[in-house]
Amino acid sequence: MTTSQSPKPPSPRTRVRRLHEKAAYDAATIAAILDAMPLAHVGHLVGGAPVVTPTLQWRIGARVFWHGSAASRMMKAAAGAQVCLTVTCVDGMVLARSGLEHSVNYRSVMVFGEAEAVTGAEAKEAALKAMMEQLFPGRWAALRPMTAQELKATAILSLPLTEASAKIAAGPPTDPPEDVGWPVWAGELPMATAVLPPVAAPDLAPDLADPPPYLSAFRWGERR
Ligand SMILES: Cc1cc2nc3c(=O)[nH]c(=O)nc-3n(C[C@H](O)[C@H](O)[C@H](O)COP(=O)(O)OP(=O)(O)OC[C@H]3O[C@@H](n4cnc5c(N)ncnc54)[C@H](O)[C@@H]3O)c2cc1C
Repeated sequence: MTTSQSPKPPSPRTRVRRLHEKAAYDAATIAAILDAMPLAHVGHLVGGAPVVTPTLQWRIGARVFWHGSAASRMMKAAAGAQVCLTVTCVDGMVLARSGLEHSVNYRSVMVFGEAEAVTGAEAKEAALKAMMEQLFPGRWAALRPMTAQELKATAILSLPLTEASAKIAAGPPTDPPEDVGWPVWAGELPMATAVLPPVAAPDLAPDLADPPPYLSAFRWGERR
């Protein structure tokens, strides 16, 4: 989607400068991209040097969450610190008539802010339940309940979506008119991540062999 109006960024550092016509800042667009793609990258500083850590994210209302071991270097370094979290869905490769005009179709989000730790057993468990229920609706209630020790060993961070931008690239190549007649194939190679049939654990009890329905509903990176 390319926005026709001039959307207003929520802060100077979120203003898309390069190809700004591909920018969106509205909550619905940002939420749709975050909800479509659990894979995130969190950029943070360790000893003054940048580190970008891949992890899973999930959204609850106007905040984005991620979790890790309480002993994780990233979770410790990011808590209370400025971070930048990105999420990317790759939708296709764009093949133009010149190397320069080749590009990628994508939906991506960048969020800036101070990562805040989720504290208290109840709040932590609620956040983890939300993650599980978004990935596999109905699964949480069927699981062996978390222990107090497991909750303690799990750190959860969140960021408000107040400083967030989306950038969306879609459509065919945009070659300049003088290149359009060049004799080479041009167009888009659409891409999606395939979710394959589930493989049961080798030690699964035979009466549990039927995959639960939420597995066939699972999607990764698709537009919703
Ligand atoms: C799959 C993929 C492949 C890409 N390949 C290339 C490539 O090969 N070369 C290339 O130059 N760029 C590529 N981009 C675009 C890249 O992410 C940047 O938007 C671009 O490089 C401009 O960077 P900049 O620092 O000049 O952005 P600026 O426009 O100066 O960034 C200012 C602000 O705009 C926002 N912003 C910038 N980029 C994004 C984004 N992608 N998503 C959400 N918000 C954003 C942020 O808030 C940022 O702080 C790719 C993006 C994706 C998702």
